[in-house]
Amino acid sequence: MPKILDLDGTLAAQLLESARLAALHASGLLDSDPEESFDDITALVTRFCEVPIALVSLVDTDRQWFKSVQGLACRQTVRDGSMCTYTIRQTVPLVVPDLTADERFSASPFVMGKPHLRAYAGVPLRDLNGFCFGALCAVDLVPRPFSAEQIETLRMLAKQVEAQIALRQRMQQVQQLVENTEALTKDLLSSNERFCAFMDHSPIVAFIKDADGRMRFYNRRLAALYGVTNKEWLNKTDHEIWPAHLADEYRATDLAVLNSNHAVEQEERSPGPRGEYIYWKSYKFPFTDARGERFLAGIAIDVTRERLYEEELERKKEELTAATIELGKLSITDTLTGLPNRRCFDQWLEQCVSYAARSRRSLSLIMLDIDHFKAINDTKGHLFGDEVLREFGMVLPRLFRGSDHICRYGGEEFAILLPDTSPENALMLATRICNAIPMLEGALHGVTISVGVARWQVGMTTSTLLAVADAGLYEAKRNGRNQAAFSSVQRSYASEEALRSAVPPTRCIQ
Ligand code: GH3
Ligand code: MG
Ligand code: MG
Repeated sequence: MPKILDLDGTLAAQLLESARLAALHASGLLDSDPEESFDDITALVTRFCEVPIALVSLVDTDRQWFKSVQGLACRQTVRDGSMCTYTIRQTVPLVVPDLTADERFSASPFVMGKPHLRAYAGVPLRDLNGFCFGALCAVDLVPRPFSAEQIETLRMLAKQVEAQIALRQRMQQVQQLVENTEALTKDLLSSNERFCAFMDHSPIVAFIKDADGRMRFYNRRLAALYGVTNKEWLNKTDHEIWPAHLADEYRATDLAVLNSNHAVEQEERSPGPRGEYIYWKSYKFPFTDARGERFLAGIAIDVTRERLYEEELERKKEELTAATIELGKLSITDTLTGLPNRRCFDQWLEQCVSYAARSRRSLSLIMLDIDHFKAINDTKGHLFGDEVLREFGMVLPRLFRGSDHICRYGGEEFAILLPDTSPENALMLATRICNAIPMLEGALHGVTISVGVARWQVGMTTSTLLAVADAGLYEAKRNGRNQAAFSSVQRSYASEEALRSAVPPTRCIQ
């Protein structure tokens, strides 16, 4: 019997009756077809209790309905005045040997009128949950006692009826469960279909892998991209789908994501169906389903086109940088000799002069001019003249130190800056070059040069230094060419010490 809370007696009884009726209605027993299993029991009741009438009576709101009936032609009667209404209110059998002598029933229409009942024995029938649905009763048309054995038999048979009721209720529960499961499955299927449709129509590539790395779902876009069916990759690992190096890469990322427990955004690439790479912006994240199984989901957007644009842009940038560097080089290089040009030299000159000014270290400048170059051009041709200049460009770097700055200053004129070089050494070197050039084989054979040497002194500007070297060159020319010379103007800039160490113009010895 369900436990009723501590309520007012009437209210509790009403609530209990409502619950009982609800359970009875839900059982589906009322108005159901006759069944052999119940009829067999009522037949046994008539035999053991020696009565003409036996009933499985279910007490409804206003009626009592007989699931099984022996000895009566009807299947239901009104509830008022019925004995079973009393039986269901108690836990023990209700036994009334003479209904006419019992004040509860003496006025009952079933006693007063047809079928003129006289004796009654009923055992309450309870369902699975303890609700009392009705009674199994033995009824006689004459007053009579019921033996203890008969009551006990009636009680045992009532248990069998209860077992039948319970069986039906259980079957009903199972049926309900089946229906619920079917509905749920239908729901799941339609929600799965919805999910697949959503995924298949999405512009992204989507997949789900299990913790072992097996593909458990992939959408149509991914399948179409690789020309596989929507089942071909199912339950396959990365190693069964991709080349080993990519599979290793993917698996490593997947494991990191599974362990990290948060979404990871990255750029990946995979070989496309035609061998070209497809680049992806992918987001991978782990999740756990309702059954606790761990998965890795991935969605990816094809960014190949953007990536190719970026690569193209990068290439163009590199080309531009290389071109700029080349242009920079060209802007300071003389194309004929490959030597730095005057623009470059001017920068060096500035730097070297300001360094010498700061450090007070020696700095010498050599200006070098090919003698009678016009005549070479005129007699041997302009192209030969070019060749002389080219060879000059190759020879000069071999004659100076790496720290010296050589340039083609213009025409057939060359300038060399010699940091940390005393004017004596510069003049010695210039003289050696004057001697060496005409001795060379090739286009330079027999070609002589004139050289002006200048020494930077405190207070000298770059243009003054150049002018002094130029003056030296002029003097060398004037003195007969094929020689190296200090300019006499050097003196006006020279300190006492410089004056003392000044070397007079020297004629080169061939
Ligand atoms: P000097 O001994 O007084 O220096 O006489 P020079 O003939 O060498 O000097 P000049 O200034 O009279 O002539 C220089 C010539 O060099 C004139 C010019 O055509 C030639 N020249 C300048 N640049 C180039 C060049 O790049 N290639 C060739 N082949 N000739 C050049
Ligand atoms: Mg010349
Ligand atoms: Mg010249």
